[in-house]
Amino acid sequence: MKICRFDDDRLGLVEGDDVLDVSAALDAIPVQRWPIALGDPLIADLDRVIERIRTVTGGAPRRKLASVKLKSPVANPTKIVNAPINYAAHIEEAKKDQGIAHGRDLANKNIWDWGLFLKATSALIGPGEDIRLRFPDRRNDHEVELALIIGKQCNHVKQADALECIAGYAIGLDMTIRGPELQCFRKSPDTYAVCGPWLVTKDEIADPNNLNLKLWVNGEPRQNSNTKRLVYNVQRLIEYATSFYTLYPGDLLFTGTPEGVGPVKPRDVITAEIEKVGRFDIKVADAYDQ
Ligand code: MN
Repeated sequence: MKICRFDDDRLGLVEGDDVLDVSAALDAIPVQRWPIALGDPLIADLDRVIERIRTVTGGAPRRKLASVKLKSPVANPTKIVNAPINYAAHIEEAKKDQGIAHGRDLANKNIWDWGLFLKATSALIGPGEDIRLRFPDRRNDHEVELALIIGKQCNHVKQADALECIAGYAIGLDMTIRGPELQCFRKSPDTYAVCGPWLVTKDEIADPNNLNLKLWVNGEPRQNSNTKRLVYNVQRLIEYATSFYTLYPGDLLFTGTPEGVGPVKPRDVITAEIEKVGRFDIKVADAYDQ
């Protein structure tokens, strides 16, 4: 099942080129009072919402996907956890390009040396919104990544149990200002975390460690790899992340980018695609243009 958030926070069920407005199913989410539980209420109650979606599709209004504005399927993650240097070929390109490395020593470095980093949750948008470059004069890079959407509160998870913690998958764009500052700072401006085009429920993807992922800028191919080349695969990343943090429903784990990262500028269009997940176009704009 492909579940999206669109327009004025409507809930959608994606069917081919159409989206069914199943917002009535949101009534399955219990109302909370302050302080609300950590995590995203839609994802925390996803099983109940899906059950309700099945009962409301009959009378649901149908729209063309191309006519709606897609937002991030998760609205309220507590964390966007990111894997740096998690594809060998991306580590190699970063060693050769000071525009990426900025003096950081990548010789013999791997993900276990660098750990994970967090992006601000306020950076999160969907593909119907624009990536707004804060410093268009600096190098702003695209990074396409498989995004895991965590389904339940979990801590100290072993690899054998890790897939049970996932609600679904999406495409993540880890937009990045290159430079000498810390990753959490350079990668967290508003709109620098894209998630979409929807959540694909985990039952549709038997093996997340074997998915082609691709990215184009203005139709020109830039990135093309497969998640089988992840240094830490999906299960190992969940074990690693939960050895440091509790993850909550709706938390996002961006699994790292393959080689081919490169700059974008205002008025570019990025196309991102992951096998069995989907594909979207997103526009790049100048943050200071109206
Ligand atoms: Mn990244």
